[in-house]
Amino acid sequence: MRDEYPADLQEAIRFHGHMCPGLAIGYRAVRTAQAHLGIDRAEDEELVAVVESDGCGIDAVQALLSCTLGKGNLIYQDHGKQVYTVFSRKRGAGIRVAMKPGPFERTPEQEAIFQKVMSGQASEEETTLFGAFRDQRIKKILAGEENTLFKIEKVTSPPPGKARIFKSVTCEFCGEPVMEPRARIRDGKMCCIPCSQTYNRGW
Ligand SMILES: [Zn+2]
Ligand SMILES: [Zn+2]
Repeated sequence: MRDEYPADLQEAIRFHGHMCPGLAIGYRAVRTAQAHLGIDRAEDEELVAVVESDGCGIDAVQALLSCTLGKGNLIYQDHGKQVYTVFSRKRGAGIRVAMKPGPFERTPEQEAIFQKVMSGQASEEETTLFGAFRDQRIKKILAGEENTLFKIEKVTSPPPGKARIFKSVTCEFCGEPVMEPRARIRDGKMCCIPCSQTYNRGW
């Protein structure tokens, strides 16, 4: 790992497993949210993050804000957008950090090499070149001015509610416990989602 990276970024890299442009964007988005809200990380549920993609950048949210799936203060919306909304319950404030177009745009030459690498057709030279483009992009993201990288807006809507703990019922088909709000009925018996038979009319 490169020593020139700040300690918090190194922590995110350790958590994620590698450095990549996606993690760099997530890192910058988290740093932006921290600066605007005057926050650090969540011990409990005082911070809540709503993310709109499941890409590499989300691991910066989990590693640095301690907004994690397991703690229930990471909400995932499958929009395929690099948008990070962070709420501080204590401060009663929220910030929406949305990536602007640009950081991931490729020149036609870069696009051609990217396609080759993705299809496994790249020569050694092209693979090296691809690595250099990636490094360049990472550097650009890490050095970029926050308003160049992101559209930053205050959020006035309240944060999502806190995670709740529910009673469990036992699925009568597989015998495994399932939390009540996720239980289904099959043949008049309580069951879990995987054991339930879905019925839909294609809507
Ligand atoms: Zn990655
Ligand atoms: Zn079951």
